[in-house]
Amino acid sequence: MNFLLDDDQKKLQSTVEEFARERIAPVAEKLDRDGVFPTSLFHELADIGVTSIPFSEEWGGMGLGTFEMVLALEQIARVDQSLAVSTMVSVATGLTLGRFGSDAQKQKYLPDIVAGKKICAIAGTEPNAGSDTAGFTTRGRLVDGIWRINGEKAYITNAGTDISSFALVLVVTSPPEAPKKSFSLFLVPNGTRGYKPGEKYRKMGWRSSDTRPLYFDDCELGPDNVVGEVDKGRLLLHKGYQQARVFLSTCSLGLAQGSLDLAVSYAKERRAFGGSIGKLQLIQKMIADMAVKVETARMVVYKAAWLSDQGLATGKDLAIAKYYATEIGSECANLAIQVHGGWGFMDDCPASRYLRDNRVCTIGDGSSQIQTLLIARELGLDVSFA
Ligand SMILES: Cc1cc2nc3c(=O)[nH]c(=O)nc-3n(C[C@H](O)[C@H](O)[C@H](O)COP(=O)(O)OP(=O)(O)OC[C@H]3O[C@@H](n4cnc5c(N)ncnc54)[C@H](O)[C@@H]3O)c2cc1C
Repeated sequence: MNFLLDDDQKKLQSTVEEFARERIAPVAEKLDRDGVFPTSLFHELADIGVTSIPFSEEWGGMGLGTFEMVLALEQIARVDQSLAVSTMVSVATGLTLGRFGSDAQKQKYLPDIVAGKKICAIAGTEPNAGSDTAGFTTRGRLVDGIWRINGEKAYITNAGTDISSFALVLVVTSPPEAPKKSFSLFLVPNGTRGYKPGEKYRKMGWRSSDTRPLYFDDCELGPDNVVGEVDKGRLLLHKGYQQARVFLSTCSLGLAQGSLDLAVSYAKERRAFGGSIGKLQLIQKMIADMAVKVETARMVVYKAAWLSDQGLATGKDLAIAKYYATEIGSECANLAIQVHGGWGFMDDCPASRYLRDNRVCTIGDGSSQIQTLLIARELGLDVSFA
């Protein structure tokens, strides 16, 4: 792995950094307060090319890799993790469709996702099962060549915005009496009869990212809506989640770097006992600790992204990046609050938003507990998920 970015990568990074600093950072607090997905800002982000980075040129993409997407997402999450997450979910879902969808599905849906005109969702979690994907119960029955879907998904990102295009939904397609469940992945366009995104949740963080339950009530889909092969969908969803895992790690990395930026800047400007608090050694210790965590997270996340692009990333590489970066995201946001003193506890101080936003990152897309089990399993330990 080369630690030096090439000129194109540096240009991409600085373009997104500038956009994030000038266009996103000034409105991030308001977006958090309003709690509405910022469609026009997302379109602006798409206009500078962010949503197209890892897609092939055939679909309007830049033909770059996971690593370049990571460089861009890191800069967005540095100022607003909520927007970074909405972006990455759509990109990861689009990549899943790009890998496993039919030509017709790709032709119809991918160009708008790549161009950022539309946004899409991936739906596994249900009210009664998240980590334990075998416990999903949303079910599809094939009747006269038409799939009829019934059930409910929970906590799904991006399904109910004004530009939501479709959701990739994991559905049990084995009959109830089958000894073992099998699943299929369905492309469900917004507006399909019997499919309804519910009311958005009130949340601790990621407030401008759209999160809703999805309801399926005799939702009818044709065979063309199956992504990949019938009964082979669970693996596809896991592959989609794995891609998202690198991106979610990046969202925490960017947030950790943003926490460090805030802490350094405040330590220089805040005065106590006749000088800046940045001259106090215990403040310096907190800031140095943050810098070490950020740099270490960057190494594991970049490594996971780089290996993904070579097709060499193992489950352990992805799990280490996800586990470490998401945990230190919260640690760094918490330290940034400490450096800010009472001001850090106020809603208007970005550090408090950072702590709220990152809290879900150690839960979603394979919790920290699940990542540690995956690491232990790859180290040869006898890991049981039960
Ligand atoms: C804001 C938000 C957005 C989300 N967006 C999406 C989305 O777009 N698509 C989607 O499909 N899902 C999404 N999710 C759901 C998320 O992925 C799940 O919440 C997550 O996978 C955990 O599942 P759960 O909530 O059912 O918790 P559970 O699986 O019930 O876990 C509860 C606790 O038990 C622990 N646990 C579970 N199994 C084990 C085990 N074997 N060993 C040790 N500990 C264990 C977990 O780590 C956790 O601490 C989102 C969630 C949130 C909050």
